[in-house]
Amino acid sequence: MTTVRTTCPYCGVGCGVLAKQTGARTVEIAGDPDHPANRGKLCSKGTHLGETVALEGRLLHPEIDGARVHWDAALDAVANGFRDAIETYGPESVAIYGSGQLLTEDYYAANKLMKGYIGTANIDTNSRLCMASAVAAHIRAFGEDIVPCSYSDIDDADLIVLVGSNTAWCHPILWQRIEAARAERGTKLVVIDPRRTETAAGADLHLAIRADGDTALWNSALAEMRARGLVDAAYLDGHVDVPEGFWDGLDGDTVALTDLSVTALEHFFGLLAAHPRTLTMFSMGVNQSIGGTDKANAIINFHLATGRIGKAGAGPFSITGQPNAMGGREVGGLATTLAAHLPWTDEGRETAQAFWNSPRIAQGPGLKAVDLFRAVDSGQIKVLWIMATNPAVSMPNASFVREAIAKCPLVVVSDMFGDTDTAKLAHIKLPALGWAEKDGTVTNSERVISRQRAMFEAPGEARADWAIIADVARRMGFDGFDWSANADVFAEFAAMTRFRNPDARALSVPGVTEYDAMAPFQWGGRSPFSGGKYRHPNGRARLVPVAPVAPVAAMTLNTGRYRDQWHTMTRTGLSARLSQHRREPLIEVHPDDAAEYDIVDNGFATAGQQVFRARVTDAQRRGEIFVPMHWSDQLASGGRANREVSDATCPASGQPGFKRSVAQLASWEPDWRGFLVTVARPQTLESPYWLASRLAGGWLIELAGLGSIDADALLPEGERVEAFDNARGTRRIAVRSDTGMLEAALFLTRSGTLPPRDWIAEQLGADLPAIELLAARAIAAAPDCGPIVCVCFNVGAKTIGNAIAQQGCASIEAVGASLRAGTNCGSCRPAIAAL
Ligand code: SF4
Repeated sequence: MTTVRTTCPYCGVGCGVLAKQTGARTVEIAGDPDHPANRGKLCSKGTHLGETVALEGRLLHPEIDGARVHWDAALDAVANGFRDAIETYGPESVAIYGSGQLLTEDYYAANKLMKGYIGTANIDTNSRLCMASAVAAHIRAFGEDIVPCSYSDIDDADLIVLVGSNTAWCHPILWQRIEAARAERGTKLVVIDPRRTETAAGADLHLAIRADGDTALWNSALAEMRARGLVDAAYLDGHVDVPEGFWDGLDGDTVALTDLSVTALEHFFGLLAAHPRTLTMFSMGVNQSIGGTDKANAIINFHLATGRIGKAGAGPFSITGQPNAMGGREVGGLATTLAAHLPWTDEGRETAQAFWNSPRIAQGPGLKAVDLFRAVDSGQIKVLWIMATNPAVSMPNASFVREAIAKCPLVVVSDMFGDTDTAKLAHIKLPALGWAEKDGTVTNSERVISRQRAMFEAPGEARADWAIIADVARRMGFDGFDWSANADVFAEFAAMTRFRNPDARALSVPGVTEYDAMAPFQWGGRSPFSGGKYRHPNGRARLVPVAPVAPVAAMTLNTGRYRDQWHTMTRTGLSARLSQHRREPLIEVHPDDAAEYDIVDNGFATAGQQVFRARVTDAQRRGEIFVPMHWSDQLASGGRANREVSDATCPASGQPGFKRSVAQLASWEPDWRGFLVTVARPQTLESPYWLASRLAGGWLIELAGLGSIDADALLPEGERVEAFDNARGTRRIAVRSDTGMLEAALFLTRSGTLPPRDWIAEQLGADLPAIELLAARAIAAAPDCGPIVCVCFNVGAKTIGNAIAQQGCASIEAVGASLRAGTNCGSCRPAIAAL
């Protein structure tokens, strides 16, 4: 049994993982105590990685039009498709859409092929949806895409400001570090977020800002610091260019634009004034906006002008969502960047071409994600290669994107899974390695490059993405792709960062002699701007004038993430434990809006075409609704939030404004509701609302619909036990196998109540008396644990509530000592704190 030292494939924290192989496709997961990002800790998603490495749903062989083919045939078809389109329509007729899930080596190979050999920059990535605004802001302010901070700044800050970041759910290990800093050093915490998330709930100050009010807030904060004499004139003189009229542009009606009270604003400004060691961490709430780049620059302006950058515990810190979004930025995986932080100047292009010794070089930036799929729709793009991502679900205006892909003459998908919403549209499917088999490097949010290492052999005929790309490139007649191993690709990338780079670019990766044994290392050092040297040609930074986005009067839709799910759930959706936290996508609505729209808690509501279960909560601002972005056609009839998201983008970065679309909210009243627990998922589910989530031994399927339901179509063959209550239109049917084991149980009602799911969901495969099956509970009364809070130890909210009320457990630690809840991954600690 070998233990492999690797990196978590989910978020941009980039935690080190120890993966101990325990069987053919089984593995035990632990945090790597030696990795600087997490020091041995893992959140719930990382902890349960072992539940996602089986081969269910894997694409194991190349396919053309649904038929299995040899790799040679598939690669020839891809190469011929690219070559034919380029010869007939030119290089701008082909495109690659990649992913922050790709390793740096994969990204490097794809970028080199497109920009250096095909001669187009039509290679973009789902990182465009994640942090393109931060990239654009860094380049505008610093002259290069450099993250100025490190995680250790969390330990040294006196004030941490989280902007548009539900850190407790989306970057849980960083949240635990923030919690530790607060406990040990008394670090103050401000959370700027329209929603009272678990992150915001325990902050010293929560500013429930109007959607997209951030630029106005940070402009106002800087004006206030200037009025208080807290602008660092010496730092500006020495290191920062200030455009004429910059200070006049900070004025605005902050109260109206932010919808924050004067008292709240003064509280915030007072904290900023009192704590020079301010660390501002920003994430999707900043980036995913039609004014995202300006928001990021407003934050950076504040830090540059007050000299709160390049010092321990201070700086503007962009936290990335994807595991290797940063690696993609380094190689040039975005259509708007060239390669290795080279600029799109004649000199930058000549340098890249000289390094690659390539036949051509892209003339300038290519199509950004939204524009790329518009070009697919218009017919400009004839060949589209999608790698390791699911744009039919994850792009804004997702139905448009799906239809565009469907009419593209040649769609190639290389992925682990062959049945994602996107893969179903592919003409050619190429089986790619998944996390458990991948081998290469990733870069996390603090510029630390770590190794991902394989713990299993490649399944079926799956191959590494970089090797697939290299094979296609060779078939197209290109040299320069003769790497024999991933180490060669990394060495070439590292050499490119150093090529003609005496000190022109901060990105400079040293050569690595021991690639296999490579320990995590950080490029740029802990604080790249500690010497005050920036990367514009004059060596200085720039303040960037930015203007607020105008508020929207209509009801707005905000989208985001759940604690235990990742992206479009192609992997986390495989885990029964991770499914427990939030089994359904909930539409969150303020109580006043709920009353106005006739929506009740735990009832249903629609946002546009999508039906959601409703949660009525005052954590939501009036006039703004929230839905998660994870669900796809594989797991739900609706809930595809991105179908309802506008594809308007930030003009500077091309990043879509996922956080603020005009919402079409309405209540929805089904004729009947129900749920099914079943060992085998039914072949088809056709009710207007269905939602499938994993159980340890099968599936839990929530149902609701209009008219009648064909219960027989949902149930397997077997001995049936049934009960009816015609007055309430209630049916309960359990199906047992020949050996008496529970195969399925269906509970339906028109006007009655449904039993709790938790007990019956654990009985699949059990031999139980009929009365228990139909009651959906044990006859000997078992305690009702309530909804699961701690997925590691299966501890429910009611159990925790009892420990608090009856045992006097008055802290998270006391609850942990009594129940173990919150003592493993720690992701549920904010929820325990809230209880
Ligand atoms: Fe993985 Fe969680 Fe660490 Fe993110 S915080 S890298 S999801 S273990």
